[in-house]
Order: sequence, then structure tokens, then C-alpha cells
Amino acid sequence: MAELLSRMNVCEGMSPLPLFREFAAAFFAVSALALVHQPADAVAAPAASSTCCPADVSTPAPVAGVRHVVLIGVDGFGAYAWEKAKIPNLRFLAANGALTLNARTVLPTISAPNWGTHLMGAGPELHGWTSNGARSLEPLVRNERGLFPTVFSIVRAAHPKAKLAAFYDWGRIHNLLDTDVLSHEVYVGCLDGKITRFKRPREHPRAANAGDSPRGVKRTDQELVEEYEASSKEVTAAAAEYIEKEKPLLSFIYLGALDETGHKLGHDTPAYYTTLANVDAHVGRILEAIKKAGMEKETVIIVVSDHGGVGRGHGKNSKLETQIPWLIWGPGIKRGVTMNSAVLNTDTSPTIVRLLGLPQPQPWRGKPVEEAIAK
Ligand SMILES: [Zn+2]
Repeated sequence: MAELLSRMNVCEGMSPLPLFREFAAAFFAVSALALVHQPADAVAAPAASSTCCPADVSTPAPVAGVRHVVLIGVDGFGAYAWEKAKIPNLRFLAANGALTLNARTVLPTISAPNWGTHLMGAGPELHGWTSNGARSLEPLVRNERGLFPTVFSIVRAAHPKAKLAAFYDWGRIHNLLDTDVLSHEVYVGCLDGKITRFKRPREHPRAANAGDSPRGVKRTDQELVEEYEASSKEVTAAAAEYIEKEKPLLSFIYLGALDETGHKLGHDTPAYYTTLANVDAHVGRILEAIKKAGMEKETVIIVVSDHGGVGRGHGKNSKLETQIPWLIWGPGIKRGVTMNSAVLNTDTSPTIVRLLGLPQPQPWRGKPVEEAIAK
């Protein structure tokens, strides 16, 4: 319930971030790298060698052929649902990529702590997002924008001109992105009953997440679910358009509808599987955009979730809440492999920088999912 209430008040507690942009991101990423112990065979990291000071971590070679990474985040996708679901596109990616249905969330099993963990390579005890609300714990390390280093900060520092983009339909994602280093940001919300694209949450004072009834308006759970379904479809459309046109180096596409269905109509219900099938169609649309852009042989897709659920919620430590899928597909990735490695949400960002041949910053605690990478 706390999760639900928090989602419903999504716009509260947000503060505009200062406009530092790429220079600040590069500065911080290099500063973070400078904290790392230097192995004997260290080579200069691209960011450090091109800006100010030597990096002191070894730089991994990029995974051959990877020129784009698309991270798809499906809120509330419990691993329990995989076998029963009608998800042909996800099954295609798994059959030709690497999958574990035994990945684990960090705790608590709620959204912002885990999305922060996916994007920041460390858990809530370090990045500070211990709840969906205002950050209750100071990040152990901050950049000039007050954020723990995100995958976007690190990739931006190494690639000042690259296209980096995020698309999402839950406003609190904005807080976790290091948004000023992005080339393109789309928040899909609801304005006066219409699904609408915004550059950021609160761009319009009446913009709200889909599924949040305006004050004094009573709607059924089914109507609220359908509205969130429409917003996730619009997120997908915005992302597909951008991918086809701009061929971004790194994209994050967050789809909130499945969690909304879990909260309003229940996990592991026919309605949940209907929404999951729709999410799968969105994955298919993204795959189609990648093909249209001519990026199919150069793009790694990673599909992750923040938590599962039981009944109409999540937040506790049951297997249904903590066990989630983690899927990766693309060049340099093993094909048709069910992975045995321990995979935690901390590992997503380290895997992305590993694919791109960038050293991970010292504060990150995750590890690349090496088992997925073809040698
Ligand atoms: Zn969530």
C-alpha cells in the first residue's frame, strides 16, 4: 500500500536539477574513477585520458560489435509469471540470448530503490533511494547534480556527443536518471484525461501519472489499468520513433503498466497476464524499431524488472517479490543460454559499461554478468 500511495503522489518532492550537463558529468565520472585501486596492468580510461587525469582502473575491451544498448525496464515483472505468460518476443530474445529467472532484487522490494540500483550499479545503502519518496539516506558519493554516478553519467563522460535517451511513464524515474546528461527525455503522463508526452514530470502543473485519478474523480480499477496500459504504449511509441531516427548509443525504456495492474487487479491474475502480453508487444515494437534503424546486428537489449509481487502488492521478502527475470540479447551475447550466475539488480549498469568497454566507477558494487558474454 505504501508503494501504491507513493506512486499516486508521484509528483511530490521533486526538485528541479541544476543545468550542469556534460562537463559536470565528465568531471564527476573522472573523479569517481580516480578513487579506484590501480592494478599493475591498468590502461587509461577513455574519459580520463581525454579530459584531465589518468584513470586508475583497467579499461575492458568493448564487446565486439556492440554499438547500441537498449535497457527495457518492466515494473513489477515477477519471474513466477514467465512460464505462464504469452510473451513471444521475450521468448525470442531468450531463445537467442541469455536469461536467468533467478535474478534478485535489492531490498526493499519497491520501485525507486530497485530502479535506482539498476541505473546506479549499487544498492540503496549507497545511492540513498531507500523508498519511493524523498531520498531518506544521503548518497555516499555525489556528483554536482547531487546524484550517485549513474550509467548515463559514466557513458556520457566517455561519449560527449552520443545520443543517450530515457522514456518512462512513472514520474519518479526522473530523479534516478542524472537527467541533465541525457540527449532526450520523454515522460508520458496524463493531462486532463489525455495521455500526453512531456519533457519531464511537472512540465505542466496538472500532469500526473497515468492511473492517478484527478482529485474528486472516481474511476474503476479497470479504467485506471487501461489508462496505464495506454501510457506504456505511448512510451514505447516515443522510444521507437527516437530509435529509428537517432540510433541512440544508450536508451532506457521504462514501462509502468504491469505494476499498475498488479496493484489494482492483482498479481498472477488473468488481467496481469493480459498486461504482460501487451508489454511483450511493446518489446516487439522496440525490436522492430531497432531493425528499421538498421541496428539489429549492433544492439544489445537488456530486459529487467524491479520486483515481482503477490496479491495486490510487493515490498516484503517473499520469492514472488524478490525473484525476477534478467534477460540479455544481441551481438557478443551467448545464444539460448539459461544462466546459473547469481544476478542482482546492481549488475545491470556494470554489464552495460562492460559491453561498451568502459571501466565502472569505484562506488558501484555490481559486477558485469560475464556468463552472458560469448568469449
Ligand atoms: Zn515497481
